[in-house]
Amino acid sequence: MLDRVDVGEVDFKSYEPYTAPEMIREIRAHAAQLKGARLLHVNATPYGGGVSELLRAVIPIYRGLGIKADWKCIYGDPQFFAITKSFHNALQGAPEELTRLAGETYLMYNKLNADLLDEEYDFVVIHDPQPLAIRHFKGANGAKWVWRCHIDTSSPNEEVLAFISRYFVEYDALVFTMQRFVPPGLEHKKLYIIPPAIDPLSPKNVDLPDDLCREMLVWLGVNPDQPLMTQVSRFDPWKDPFGVIDVYRMVREKVPGLQLALLGSMALDDPEGWGIYNQVVAETKDDSDVHVRTNLVGVSNMEINAFQRKSNVIIQKSIREGFGLIISESLWKGTAVVANRAGGIPLQMEDGIGGFLVDSTEQCADRALYLLNNPEEAKEIGLRGKERVRERFLTPRLVADWLRLLTEL
Ligand code: UDP
Repeated sequence: MLDRVDVGEVDFKSYEPYTAPEMIREIRAHAAQLKGARLLHVNATPYGGGVSELLRAVIPIYRGLGIKADWKCIYGDPQFFAITKSFHNALQGAPEELTRLAGETYLMYNKLNADLLDEEYDFVVIHDPQPLAIRHFKGANGAKWVWRCHIDTSSPNEEVLAFISRYFVEYDALVFTMQRFVPPGLEHKKLYIIPPAIDPLSPKNVDLPDDLCREMLVWLGVNPDQPLMTQVSRFDPWKDPFGVIDVYRMVREKVPGLQLALLGSMALDDPEGWGIYNQVVAETKDDSDVHVRTNLVGVSNMEINAFQRKSNVIIQKSIREGFGLIISESLWKGTAVVANRAGGIPLQMEDGIGGFLVDSTEQCADRALYLLNNPEEAKEIGLRGKERVRERFLTPRLVADWLRLLTEL
């Protein structure tokens, strides 16, 4: 049996204050049609990274709406996850080589997980490439199958794309974050574009009193009275942590006492994390104003929330980004962001609405410095970003999109 992630259920009423009346009606109407339907979501990890964050938010809502929703994680060993991370990197455009052994190991684990999937469902949603081939080994098994790709696959490594496309064409529907991410040449009768969203009720996003935020920063060794620049991301080359350190060093020359927080969580399916973390720590060990912290030392949802509120500027220097939940999370706190123009980031913010989009380390430093020197304007820009998130990127909109899709299927 695959491991089930138990997340309980929540009454959709709690989300109604964040939902337009016509959307509430639409959600309830679709939910009535889908009442009792058995819906399974499968991904690679119960914690760490955006996909687990999304599932943690939507599964309890589906259940509260009367849909029998389950979340299960696949089984895999470090070798399997090293292979799937290399697929992930290749699909984002890295020059990885697909060896025969890697392909065989990937398929062997997918077959094993298909065998472990023993319950029956009406809908199965498979997230990202790690469990993609389960559909192939399991057959339809009476369900409609949806593949949800969270990766920027707009300029993929052809060899790896050719390998995985054999498996996703078997699905009843495919979902991407942006039209631009649909791999070149892909034709499928049911292609959907659904951007992710953040959960306004999660401890990561709820309102927090200022003194509590300050205490959390102090507890993690950060001085709340000195200026603070933060990036929150897995330790991953695509998130460019060393670029962030360069930005910090440039800006600090003009802003004495500036601190940098690099907060990252370790995900079960990302074996690169510790290696990059160690390099980041080695690079910054002589600077007591750089704070590198992880979920293993207590950086959890509330602490991320506090850092997003108390930072003077949030950086997101991603080279590639699927969506980047972290952008909407930061904007929801009204904090201005300077982010690389990558993947789903420009969907969430634009120059002057939420912060600034940049294309280089120098530009990033320049815009961060501008926000640090102009706190009133930074506040206004941040608040405009918050309004955009309220309109487009909160969980109820995501639930509405998915219920519409499932009803159509
Ligand atoms: N995150 C976290 N703790 C950390 C670093 C990240 O909880 O130390 C969360 C972050 O708040 C966000 C998710 O992990 O909800 C990252 O999602 P995103 O879409 O930004 O990037 P991904 O990791 O999926 O590439």
